[in-house]
Amino acid sequence: LEEDFYNKMNRDEAEDLLEEEEEAGPVQIVVADEDEHQFSLDEQALERILLQEHVRDLNVVVVSVAGAFRKGKSFLLDFMLRYMYNQKSSLWIGGNDEPLTGFTWRGGCERETTGIQAWSEVFVVEKPDGTKVAVLLIDTQGAFDSQSTIKDCATLFALSTMTSSVQLFTEYGRLAMEEIYLKPFQSLMFLIRDWSYPYEHAYGLEGGNMFLEKRLQVKQNQHEELQNVRKHIHSCFTNISCFLLPHPGLKVATNPYFDGRLRDIDPDFKKELANLIPLLLAPENLVEKEISGSKVTCRDLVQYFKAYMKIYQG
Ligand code: GDP
Ligand code: MG
Repeated sequence: LEEDFYNKMNRDEAEDLLEEEEEAGPVQIVVADEDEHQFSLDEQALERILLQEHVRDLNVVVVSVAGAFRKGKSFLLDFMLRYMYNQKSSLWIGGNDEPLTGFTWRGGCERETTGIQAWSEVFVVEKPDGTKVAVLLIDTQGAFDSQSTIKDCATLFALSTMTSSVQLFTEYGRLAMEEIYLKPFQSLMFLIRDWSYPYEHAYGLEGGNMFLEKRLQVKQNQHEELQNVRKHIHSCFTNISCFLLPHPGLKVATNPYFDGRLRDIDPDFKKELANLIPLLLAPENLVEKEISGSKVTCRDLVQYFKAYMKIYQG
């Protein structure tokens, strides 16, 4: 049955998908200048995206995937795009031999950019109560690899946190509390990838939440700072959750020619992915961005971005 599901996407649908995606693309809205330890906002790029007539007055839902380089952010975002472009189809996950497109940049000499990228197309979705919201997808890439950049990285994630309504933090096989910076989040999901202890905590949301609860327990022998993160985390976020994803298979992780097609991805992974994405993006689950308790439109968000940038530029 499952095999059927993944095979069924017909050619027309696949072609529609490609056509739509050709016009849209990732846009760098915040650029980090690593030598100067500064960030700059491309205001025009941001405005081109958020001030489009059909979205600018709608309440905005900002879903941001944050993490270090090569943590599978683009991979995940590309599946989010598939879902957004095929909202009405149960076959959104795509065809078996369809390469992934979207945020992924293909080529040999990729220069990874620290900063924030947004998908140029803002999706209009009708919620079950009939209201229309605008969905913005964001990729926040930091670098945890050298001491000097840790502060920059904190700044970047804080910025993305303050401007998003749902943030996913990607990690491989672990949950490092040291890398969490406390700011008023709405919804934070830790996405633990390559989870290899399903017999201890099952894949998915339920297992993840149980694991998270355990990791959030305060223990006497912990460093004071880590104790504090654990104590304050609940007061900073309206909703914290954790999702455990299985390893996607060796082709995904190690084959340089892997292009994202489902055929090369482990069935367990696909199954969990098919659960995860709607949890974040199904119309009934969309979380509108709020600041100080008020919903924010796309137009407002432009102003908030500018204001937050000023704060961080000092
Ligand atoms: P990004 O730099 O965070 O955007 O990472 P990418 O999406 O470009 O993925 C980096 C590499 O990790 C690629 O080779 C992916 O195929 C691979 N990858 C994606 N998801 C996973 C995962 O869940 N586990 C493992 N081990 N590798 C993954
Ligand atoms: Mg990427």
